[in-house]
Amino acid sequence: MTFGRDSGPTILVVEDDDEARRALQRDLLARGYRVEEAADGATALARWDARRPDAILLDLGLPDMDGAAVIRHVRRESLTPILVISAREAEAVKVEALELGADDYVTKPFGTAELQARLRALLRRAAGPASDAAGRVRAGPLVLDATRHEVTVAGNPVDLTPREFEVLRVLLAHAGRLVTRGRLLRTVWGAAYQGEDHYVHVFVSQVRRKLAAHDPEGLLGDLIVTEPGVGYRVRAAEPSAET
Ligand code: CA
Repeated sequence: MTFGRDSGPTILVVEDDDEARRALQRDLLARGYRVEEAADGATALARWDARRPDAILLDLGLPDMDGAAVIRHVRRESLTPILVISAREAEAVKVEALELGADDYVTKPFGTAELQARLRALLRRAAGPASDAAGRVRAGPLVLDATRHEVTVAGNPVDLTPREFEVLRVLLAHAGRLVTRGRLLRTVWGAAYQGEDHYVHVFVSQVRRKLAAHDPEGLLGDLIVTEPGVGYRVRAAEPSAET
């Protein structure tokens, strides 16, 4: 069943806990979204097929099927943003969901503000790549020029190796979203490096060190945030008022 007005992004809320689902629905409707709801996996897939929502909020613990099965089904057909809602104790399940192609997660119990911010970031990101027409991506004083393969901080060039450049490029391309170590490995090094997570750790450390060396005033702050046990997240780009 569809709730909400005629316009606005449609969010499919998949959650078997009636109270939690209704609370999510209320929050989303209050912010102008349209809402489709499903209390089990089969209904979620039927709603997905019928409505093609703009984003999916997915509780992983469903009565009739694993939430991972929903992710697999959706990812065979589309890159529609999937925000996973996971229980605190389900670390391995959460990582599996991200590896299957979920875009981000919130852990129960989560605040409305956090959920809404994550959802907005996913929808913004889905609207188009973070780069400008010239292929430049900005994060405050940092500019990554994908066409010239150049990175500058406040105009000073940063000397990155090709792999370090790729690591930074992938993280910036997903600004505001979580990138698992597995996804970074597959994207930057290729499938043959599956499980070699220490490469990611070493290269991210090098990128951080080189950026910091060109940022004596600390303008970048904590640009690349570690999500322990999962991966990394670059802060979502904001209007660069500080430069
Ligand atoms: Ca559940």
